[in-house]
Amino acid sequence: MTVLTTAAQSVKLREHTVPVGLYIDGAWKPVGPTFAVINPATGETIAEVADGGADDAREALEAAVAAQDDWRAWTPRARANLFHRAHAVLMSRADAIAEVMVLESGKPLAEARGEFALSADFFLWYAEQIAHLHGTFAQGSNGGYRVVATHQPVGPCLLITPWNFPLLMIARKAGAALAAGCAVITKSAKETPLTSALFIEALHDAGFPAGVVNLIHTQSSAAISSTIMRDPRLRKVSFTGSTGVGSTLLKQAAANITNASMELGGDGPFVVLEDADIDLAVQQAIVCKFRNAGQACVAANRIIVHSAVEEEFTRKFVEQTRALRVGDGFTSVDMGPVISGDQRARLGTLVSSLLDSGAELLAGGHEIDGPGFFYEPTVMRITRADPELANEELFAPVATIYPVDSTEEAIRFANDTGYGLAAYLFTEDISSAIVASERLEFGMVGINRGIMADPAAPFGGIKASGLGREGGHDGIYEFLEPKYLAITVDETTGLDR
Ligand code: NAD
Repeated sequence: MTVLTTAAQSVKLREHTVPVGLYIDGAWKPVGPTFAVINPATGETIAEVADGGADDAREALEAAVAAQDDWRAWTPRARANLFHRAHAVLMSRADAIAEVMVLESGKPLAEARGEFALSADFFLWYAEQIAHLHGTFAQGSNGGYRVVATHQPVGPCLLITPWNFPLLMIARKAGAALAAGCAVITKSAKETPLTSALFIEALHDAGFPAGVVNLIHTQSSAAISSTIMRDPRLRKVSFTGSTGVGSTLLKQAAANITNASMELGGDGPFVVLEDADIDLAVQQAIVCKFRNAGQACVAANRIIVHSAVEEEFTRKFVEQTRALRVGDGFTSVDMGPVISGDQRARLGTLVSSLLDSGAELLAGGHEIDGPGFFYEPTVMRITRADPELANEELFAPVATIYPVDSTEEAIRFANDTGYGLAAYLFTEDISSAIVASERLEFGMVGINRGIMADPAAPFGGIKASGLGREGGHDGIYEFLEPKYLAITVDETTGLDR
């Protein structure tokens, strides 16, 4: 299936040719040192990709800085037209991108296709936003001048993305930044560089000018990012990943007062109230928990169920969990492997700690034998919540169900976390839905639904889950800065001089 050519500039995967170099200043650089990309479903190396270093980081920043002024001068229509061309190129490569995503991330093909469709929609959304940016005009408070408020691109940006949604994360960020008129350096996750490469290749083929988009793969993320962040010509860092790394990047950003947006970890409480439609809640909880083998920032982390319906919910949830088919994403499965052997080993420790703290194991709880990094979909019931474990981002196909005795207790427990990304609420009562969702301290609340990413929605969190939003009307403004022009007007001027 995999053909590695010598000193390869590209790799052939299921008939799709994927560049493996760094993309800087409009060209794929000759490949020097490399690192391996592993298929988590087989444990096999599927590609060797270029391992970028500090010199590459500097080169990419130079390219972005040099390209910035011309790029921001493109008219909105010209930029939007280029986006539409890029969207068409992406659509023509849907199969290649989805299949390569399966190979390096392990997710089932249907999920990869879904992620592709959503990412392409985001790109289209930004294409449409480019031509719809408006400013305001007002009279100075006491006359004498006019207040014209407009927006300008922030400037060169560093975009750092994780492996769990290898296309969506880069398309959502780069789409907004490029639409705003910023030149970008994207830094892929080392586990999933190939999907990023296909995305960047599509932008290249659509005609994005040299230097406007750059891509670096590396095993040494910290060295790359600190090299770039030290340079005051970098004007923005936009990061998606863990809260710890986000905090490190914010400290680095402080040195040059660099603009920063952070999409960080989550601890999604999934609250099922007494009057919920239980079949719907179970079906949505299965998707919300086990999509991407639970490795999602918005995954249901704590399933909090009113005791009046807990028996029915748990019975049906366990039944459906046991029915999930686990295996290679190219076969008919509901769930693939976790991303790595380390991640799977972490699950063993996590499940043991939960058992030690009094959790009851209702399904799964073991590794699945085989060459890949498979783990059984797992359900645990917890009545004595260890506060530390209850607040840990599981990031795993491990569901934890917590019974509670009232709506008040459910909301209090849901809020008892340092995170604030996504929460979910299941109830048939519209007033409960509104009042409870207003009390939930999260950036997003899914009401009677377990999936909510959408180009039209402002995606993001509060507290330790981040700063800023991606998508919706707000997304593009993360990469724009307000600019105010004060224009003197002599209020006494008559029309006829
Ligand atoms: P991670 O923080 O380890 O890595 C994310 C990215 O940062 C990767 O590209 C990695 O190479 C890079 N990185 C790691 N250390 C770095 C450093 N010191 N300096 C600069 N870059 C560095 O996270 P992960 O394991 O790849 O992803 C999982 C995490 O991402 C989870 O916490 C998850 O909740 C979060 N996430 C959040 C969102 C969101 O939108 N809020 C979306 C997806 C994932």
